[in-house]
Amino acid sequence: MSKKLLLKHDHEPGIQTYEVYRKHGGYASVEKALKTMTPEAVVEEVKKSGLRGRGGAGFPTGMKWSFLAKPEGVPRYLVCNADESEPGTFKDRYLMSRIPHYLIEGMITSSFALGANTSYIYVRGEYYYVIAILEKAIKEAYAAGWLGKNILGTGFDHDMYVQPGGGAYICGEETALLESLEGKRGNPRIKPPFPAVKGLWGCPTVVNNVETIAAVVPIVNDGGEAYAAIGIGKSTGTKLISASGHINKPGVYEIELGLPVEEFINSDEYCGGVWKGRKLKAVVAGGSSVPVLPADLIMKTAAGEPRLMSYESLADGGFASGTMLGSGGFIVMDETASVVKNLWTFARFYHHESCGQCSPCREGTGWMEKVLHKIVHGHGEMKDIDLLWDLQRKIEGNTICPLGDAAAWPVASAIRHFRSEFEEMINSHAVEHA
Ligand code: SF4
Repeated sequence: MSKKLLLKHDHEPGIQTYEVYRKHGGYASVEKALKTMTPEAVVEEVKKSGLRGRGGAGFPTGMKWSFLAKPEGVPRYLVCNADESEPGTFKDRYLMSRIPHYLIEGMITSSFALGANTSYIYVRGEYYYVIAILEKAIKEAYAAGWLGKNILGTGFDHDMYVQPGGGAYICGEETALLESLEGKRGNPRIKPPFPAVKGLWGCPTVVNNVETIAAVVPIVNDGGEAYAAIGIGKSTGTKLISASGHINKPGVYEIELGLPVEEFINSDEYCGGVWKGRKLKAVVAGGSSVPVLPADLIMKTAAGEPRLMSYESLADGGFASGTMLGSGGFIVMDETASVVKNLWTFARFYHHESCGQCSPCREGTGWMEKVLHKIVHGHGEMKDIDLLWDLQRKIEGNTICPLGDAAAWPVASAIRHFRSEFEEMINSHAVEHA
């Protein structure tokens, strides 16, 4: 059984409330950090832990924190990216709604490390009930003295706010999120400058995902080395996985990184196998933005090694035969699913969510949607497959923010691994139209 850190107490009755959370050791990391550690020592523990951003990019958190500029007299901010909108990803919603104080505790401890007296939780607008849960929990934390002036008599002041998002997927991109937080349209900024130097209102800012910030709690409580001892290689610690699709037990699971994919899909502790006794066809392992892999390549690498739930193992083979851990949105398709139809759904989503700033994304996502619509609705021609391939190549790497790549990669992988399915769909309709 995997070690549980973030979801150790998620089924305790009343864990949403301050009293129950505190009874289970809540806010110990704030006490430890503020009373016995320096901010630099907290950053050092996070570096030692090997924690990597859990929102999708997997960048080392301690390194990101160490980039934070510290000019005299300029405020610094911590912003929590809770704009969870990646199709197939719902683990942050679960964590925030079940154990809101876990995130708040992580926010205070992280803010202390960064020297930030103000923090924001930018929550996806559709998560309106989560916003209410967080606001209630923040009130409780103020009342208990964990927020406000001179916390625990240490001289550290901290205020925390929840900001609802406006419902745009692009606001999950950190600079678009900051624009939105400033009250503007959520268009991604050109980087550099990075938020660590010029972020919210032009001040140094760290933007971290919900799960990343929550992971700071066990890291401070038990030490960075203890956290790094969990997991495998450079994929340290645990990871929340949102499992959905054709499985017997969809839900949110906390796994130790390094768990074999085969065990994750088939074991009763996790997904419980493909539903209705059907065969596995394909998996999108890290949210809709990552390459889709056929059953044989998700279970084993091209070299025949068992595929593991880790940053490195899932990426083994590059995009020719691998994928990415991404946000941990694990979507399973059984033998009856149509990869091409699913791809069309993804394409519609990316076209709808493109902010329109750069032409390859604005125009390319629209064209990919049109071509896939044509194929799915029985008017495809063989040359459309090459057109799709060409379109995704013209988008990848040529845009301001990663949404362009996110739209291109699923298309490239579907053509690479499921070309015959495109051909069959086009051929079957060609017969109908003959
Ligand atoms: Fe906007 Fe797409 Fe360009 Fe990102 S890649 S800035 S979403 S047009």
